[in-house]
Amino acid sequence: MSVIDEIKSKLDIVDLVSDTVTLRKSGKNYTGFCPFHSNTKTPSFVVFPDTQTWRCFGACADGGDIFSFFIKREGYDFKQALETLAQQAGVQLQAPSPEKEKQDKQRKKLLELNAAAATYFHRLLTTSPAAEKTRTYLAQRQLTAETIAAFQLGYALDEWEALKSHFIERGYSNEDLLAVGLIVERDDGSPGYDRFRNRLIIPIRDVRGQVIGFGARALAVDQVPKYLNSPQTLLFDKSATLYGLDLAKKQIRQVDRVVIVEGYMDVIQAHQRGAQNVVAQMGTALTEQQLRILKRTTGNFVLALDADTAGGAATLRGLNIAREALDRETVPVPTARGLIRYEGRLDADIRIAALPVGKDPDDILKEGLDVWQKIIADAVPIIDFYFQAVTAGLDLNTAKDKSIAVRELIPVLRDIGNKVEQEHYVQKLARLIHVDERTLIAELKSGQKSHPIRRRKQPVSPVLPEAKEDAAIP
Ligand SMILES: [Zn+2]
Repeated sequence: MSVIDEIKSKLDIVDLVSDTVTLRKSGKNYTGFCPFHSNTKTPSFVVFPDTQTWRCFGACADGGDIFSFFIKREGYDFKQALETLAQQAGVQLQAPSPEKEKQDKQRKKLLELNAAAATYFHRLLTTSPAAEKTRTYLAQRQLTAETIAAFQLGYALDEWEALKSHFIERGYSNEDLLAVGLIVERDDGSPGYDRFRNRLIIPIRDVRGQVIGFGARALAVDQVPKYLNSPQTLLFDKSATLYGLDLAKKQIRQVDRVVIVEGYMDVIQAHQRGAQNVVAQMGTALTEQQLRILKRTTGNFVLALDADTAGGAATLRGLNIAREALDRETVPVPTARGLIRYEGRLDADIRIAALPVGKDPDDILKEGLDVWQKIIADAVPIIDFYFQAVTAGLDLNTAKDKSIAVRELIPVLRDIGNKVEQEHYVQKLARLIHVDERTLIAELKSGQKSHPIRRRKQPVSPVLPEAKEDAAIP
């Protein structure tokens, strides 16, 4: 018997589903309201004990076994689900090699260290006289004690070795502290000093809620950088992490939509004000890997972008932009064409919600949850957004501007994987600039035959390597 079969034989899908869904017996099966879509009028969700499977006969039209249910519910990947369910079933996964065993032990130790560090920072924030100003700052941001506790916000003392001595005294080594990035090695290789000093600490958790790294916001005016993250470690990979997902996944599943914002504080404030399907990218360009992780719980993504990001000339030109704004890390936004490709590859629906000028998510949420929800509901598909953005400053009655619109939009249309959708937008462009559709189709095809790279200019500002090919729509 395979490990998977063994786990299935020891766990009952009815029990597992019942943890979160109220089931009623109906003949030999069980029915309930589907936890994966928001219609609560009909109990379209059925669990079949005989086959140990489930199926939604409503909007999802999806089904599977105990593993697929668990993955969908928790947002885990298969490996994480396997480990968790094996543990629940009391099934020993394949005896690990000594190498693997060593690595698992190290991982576990580092996770414990991170958890202890989060507790240490949090206690300083809530009790230390040195954190008085930080507490005032958080009070000004109107964060409640419950929110501060839920996100386990913390404070790092303005000292070089406070954290280090604290954990060395408790039996951790310099190597452990270096391995999670809590201390920084000195240039001469001698034991290091605390990475985070005089900063507001924001623990970063994985989808399972384990602390894998830290974000840290400067508290003094002249402190740089404004945001400092843990480095890449055995536990922490920025490009595969979304801030707040552990707390957001439940509502993401319920409303079948995730909203991606730019900063940690945006997430924390949004959660406090009732928008709990909000996560933040990690100061990297939004990666396909991050979207794949989200795709386990929903296929509907909304990027809530600041007006200056969304409307910035750089975005229009398809360049990644980097900018340092109040309370934000430097946030490169993926290009429109990059997003369209993600959308095709992931079979997802990606929309852009441009926030009103001068307002961040918290300003809007202060006006009311309904105001926020309306902006999110009004988000437009990326391509429509791009159409608006490109044509906004053009006079489409002139030949010159018509040709600019074609030049900028054709490469984008070319990236649409779905042919029906592509045709829809070709028609839209034809109507918009009063040009025959066939001309545009010819243009669309001509680019595919010739070598598109040659026709592009070099980007005018530095871009991340992964965005390079998108970067130079002339
Ligand atoms: Zn469903």
